[in-house]
Amino acid sequence: MTNQNETGWNFDNSYTRLPESFFTSQNLNPVRSPNLIIINGPLAKSLGLNVERLQSEDGIAVLAGNRIPEGGSPLAQAYAGHQFGHFTMLGDGRALLLGEQITPHGERYDIQLKGSGRTRYSRGGDGRATLGPMLREYIISEAMNALGIPTTRSLAVVETGENIARETYLPGAILTRVAASHIRVGTFQYVAKWGSDGDLRILADYTIKRHYPDIEVNENQYLSLLKEVIKRQAELVSKWQLVGFIHGVMNTDNMTISGETIDYGPCAFMDTYDPETVFSSIDVQGRYAFGNQPYMAGWNLARFAETLLPLLHENQDEAVKIAQDAISGYMDLYQKNWLAGMRKKLGIFNEEEQDATLVEDLLKIMQQYYADYTNTFRALTIEKMEDTPLNGTPEFTQWHEKWQARRGRQEESRESSLELMRNSNPAVIPRNHRVEEALEAAVNEGDLSVMGKLLNVLSRPYEYSTDQEEFCSLPAPSNLPYRTFCGT
Ligand code: AMP
Ligand code: MG
Repeated sequence: MTNQNETGWNFDNSYTRLPESFFTSQNLNPVRSPNLIIINGPLAKSLGLNVERLQSEDGIAVLAGNRIPEGGSPLAQAYAGHQFGHFTMLGDGRALLLGEQITPHGERYDIQLKGSGRTRYSRGGDGRATLGPMLREYIISEAMNALGIPTTRSLAVVETGENIARETYLPGAILTRVAASHIRVGTFQYVAKWGSDGDLRILADYTIKRHYPDIEVNENQYLSLLKEVIKRQAELVSKWQLVGFIHGVMNTDNMTISGETIDYGPCAFMDTYDPETVFSSIDVQGRYAFGNQPYMAGWNLARFAETLLPLLHENQDEAVKIAQDAISGYMDLYQKNWLAGMRKKLGIFNEEEQDATLVEDLLKIMQQYYADYTNTFRALTIEKMEDTPLNGTPEFTQWHEKWQARRGRQEESRESSLELMRNSNPAVIPRNHRVEEALEAAVNEGDLSVMGKLLNVLSRPYEYSTDQEEFCSLPAPSNLPYRTFCGT
């Protein structure tokens, strides 16, 4: 038996020191015959973990939830949440927090198993996950990270050797998720609804210490927390919008307080630009459509602000005013972030009043001609519009002239402008048909090479190398819209 510590596990489990009602300590639910499918070497290394040891029988036993690593203390977190607008009690129904890994740099990360079996919060679910969706989360979360978007990471996927009943029987799997923390808007909602004001203060103080240590302790520290969370979410969602990422299930339990993207269920990248794009099979109203995401983040932040009311002011009318005031700043902040990102996408360094109109005009033309979102910006970057439906249209020709004139009104050279664009417009994104192709090979044929190649390309989205070109092509036209699913 190898010494667990040689793997590099170095836990300090601060969450276990919080009030008991915040979580449930949970025994492991061992699985039959774990088989490591993929492991993230660079991530393991940055966490201070030995990749070889992780791949040993003992290492895999940890990643499969068959063995508690030394210093680990498995627990399921309690949380609530508004799901499609309806408030519900939730919690980790199929996840276990093994512990908080302290990295060689002194950073703290949650190590969580997803698909690890039933917990106190499982309700009717089996607590399990299947291989396809766990690999999908691995691919997309790692792609997001490479794109420079704050996100939970994926350390490993292990097949469990057990069949999971869905529409048919599917191979079971466990994903090891790494996150700055798993504190959600829904965690605050849970404590605000069922805990005491003292509990709420403990959670807020804990969160400030863990994620916003620069907030000064004074009578306004909880307002500072609210403002910081608003700021991080405004940044995060603007980054989603800039790359065409659709989260798909922006329920309050799926919004982190750290500002990381979490919960890769029905998410997907948009191909053709259309703000109304929805992929999730259950989002029939389009609540979380691409163009709605900034507004839904604002809605979620308002729910977060509500939970803080008892801490914001002793007079609740005053507290509401303070909260409303903070929330009212969100949309402006979002817009500023988005416009700043769009300027970069268009190679613009300085600011002019009409920039927003310039961007909106381009988006309008893209929508009118069913242009692909990513490839339009890529084509502008490599100055090769021929392959896009915009090429030669009167609207685009006119827009292009305006854009050229606009780029002329800055000091920076044309080369710097193009470089800015290259660094801001991904050449490759995890296109749905490519992700499906990789999953199909991995799950149905046990062939991991397709996924390996895709992951490699996605790890350097701003490289514009020739080996990436085949990953830029669009899916063949189809009458069937792409559909995604959650909770699978
Ligand atoms: P999600 O849609 O992934 O955000 O999950 C919403 C809630 O359902 C969370 O409380 C999950 O833990 C729970 N859940 C999802 N899938 C399962 C499952 N297979 N078994 C038990 N709980 C689940
Ligand atoms: Mg969730």
